[in-house]
Amino acid sequence: MKVVLQNVTKKFPASGKKGEDVVAVNDFTFEIPDGELIGLLGPSGCGKSTTLSLICGLQKPTSGKILFGEDDVTETPPEHRGVGLVFQNYALYPHLTVLQNILFPLENLKGKNKLSKDEMKKRAYAAASLVQIEGLMERRPSELSGGQQQRVAIARALVKMPRVLLLDEPLSNLDARLRLQTREEIRRIQKETGITTVFVTHDQEEAMSISDRIVVMKDGVVQQIGKPQDVYDDPKNLFVAKFLGTPPISVFEGEVKNGALCIGKDVVLKLKNAKDGKVYVGVRPEGFIPEKNGALHCKLKGVEVMGRDISILSENEASQNPVIRSIVSADSKRDIDVSAETVAFSLKPHKVFLFDHESEERIAFDVL
Ligand code: ATP
Repeated sequence: MKVVLQNVTKKFPASGKKGEDVVAVNDFTFEIPDGELIGLLGPSGCGKSTTLSLICGLQKPTSGKILFGEDDVTETPPEHRGVGLVFQNYALYPHLTVLQNILFPLENLKGKNKLSKDEMKKRAYAAASLVQIEGLMERRPSELSGGQQQRVAIARALVKMPRVLLLDEPLSNLDARLRLQTREEIRRIQKETGITTVFVTHDQEEAMSISDRIVVMKDGVVQQIGKPQDVYDDPKNLFVAKFLGTPPISVFEGEVKNGALCIGKDVVLKLKNAKDGKVYVGVRPEGFIPEKNGALHCKLKGVEVMGRDISILSENEASQNPVIRSIVSADSKRDIDVSAETVAFSLKPHKVFLFDHESEERIAFDVL
């Protein structure tokens, strides 16, 4: 089922007399194709959960329209939208068994949607089998691990065969290993069922690893939509560039002077057709090449060996990041004098981004 948001805005009224309305979602337009998994990503308070509530119907937009396929569902209550919702806290009924929890949404179906007891059980076991918890059906939630409880919550959302699945930070309460495992499970289930899914998270790695496309939001405004790798390789502005990537991008105060891109006194690239002026220079961690004659000079603070790669920690007065982390292959270690006080880097031009110093929008450039 395709989901369409057309100029959707949600304002919450000011709480005090003098306060201003909160614009939680601002003019959001987007079409989620049938069967895609979309990661809604952004820092706390950027409007992710509100967007999910609007798709689900728990909140109504102040203006704009929401369509499921060709149906306008803007005024449709949540129970008639055919959505399955999974929250961070699994919200299972503690006094019911796993089977009873999964059956619960089916028992409330009325009229022509009502199912026989046999059909309900069949559906509950099919959903349980998808999330691989058939062996736990007689246990109560308190007898399950966090990961198992979240699987029950997902089975309960799937049992009604929703048209759209909405997941709000579903992995937040799980430990690192389980998070990894459960996110792979979610991707598998989503692919198997083909249900259009929206996944909310503030964790960029999580969103990038499982989404067909990501939507990066800030202060209620969509910053960029695209395939994870495309957004990483081609960020529209400084916010998006900083938000994606671990270790994060290094950002320097820079200046373009007569075609030379300068960081402090170092001329790090020669540019074609570039306008003179102050810029922010972003360099991805994999964009630094340690070389004796490299153009960018930094103070060497340490080298961390991580197996396949090594991480060079350095400092530069023009850097916004207190520590610049560059990742190079472990083979390059012989090229680095770890006892030296400085390290010089050449920069890979396609890993360098320039941003306007005022608008922070990306500036295109060609290398000479
Ligand atoms: P988090 O990651 O912290 O859950 P979020 O990105 O999901 O954040 P939202 O919960 O959608 O953000 O909130 C967006 C903005 O709307 C915030 O400024 C929040 O304070 C505000 N907001 C959300 N719900 C309400 C409400 N019911 N009344 C007033 N303001 C609200």
